[in-house]
Amino acid sequence: MSVSPQRTALPTAGDTAPAVLTAEHVSKVYAGGVTALEAVSLTIRAGELLAIVGRSGSGKSTLLNIMGTLDRPSDGTVRIAGHDAARLSDRRLSALRGRWLGFVFQQFHLADGLSAEENVATGLLYAGVPRRRRRPMALEALDRVGLAHRTRHLPHQLSGGERQRVAIARALVNNPALVLADEPTGALDTANGHSVLDLLTRLNAEGTTIAVITHDRDIAASLPRRVEMSDGRVVADTVTAQLSGGAR
Ligand code: ADP
Ligand code: MG
Repeated sequence: MSVSPQRTALPTAGDTAPAVLTAEHVSKVYAGGVTALEAVSLTIRAGELLAIVGRSGSGKSTLLNIMGTLDRPSDGTVRIAGHDAARLSDRRLSALRGRWLGFVFQQFHLADGLSAEENVATGLLYAGVPRRRRRPMALEALDRVGLAHRTRHLPHQLSGGERQRVAIARALVNNPALVLADEPTGALDTANGHSVLDLLTRLNAEGTTIAVITHDRDIAASLPRRVEMSDGRVVADTVTAQLSGGAR
């Protein structure tokens, strides 16, 4: 499948694009004393597609949860679109997530009893979108991920790859500033994994900012920027100067 290279051909254009998320000296010590993150600093700019890559246990999911304001850091600051997450109440944080962020997880996290369309519409619950607008927005998001023909299906009637597409549509439906995907291909076979990655690459080319967390070096190598983690630290942050059309 060919992917339009225009956007990804200029990953460093991000240097002047606005920051959608900044983490500054973020640390996390879990109860029991495990230090999962140590002084992690990272800026994600509008239009980027980056991998956060590292072995199991290196702190990737902890970082995603903190960047996504699902968990609070022990130290350091996370800003989303300029808002300091630590200064917001839980209620305002959930509104901030609903407005600015989309999430994709390895195990899809779809509601069993809801159709694809209803699952996608749940992505609008905390965004203050009136009920009558939710259905057309959900259908449009399913169309963007190539599932216009599966809107009434329940999760158990869909393949793993299709379920992950529904989850991606749910993450996108409110046009978030940043999509955070934690091992989005981890539960899929190779072919479905590639197709989900191609989809994320296409969505990025259409303007969505996406961070993909992965332990898979090949996946990371196919993305324009790679932030490498080891033992809770960022040990490398590399931007590919120019992606040829064949890079992915
Ligand atoms: P990764 O996603 O890269 O596999 P994690 O962020 O899940 O890494 O974990 C980083 C470290 O923090 C690991 O040592 C893990 O065991 C530990 N850890 C993760 N979650 C918790 C938790 N809720 N309580 C205690 N330790 C945790
Ligand atoms: Mg993880």
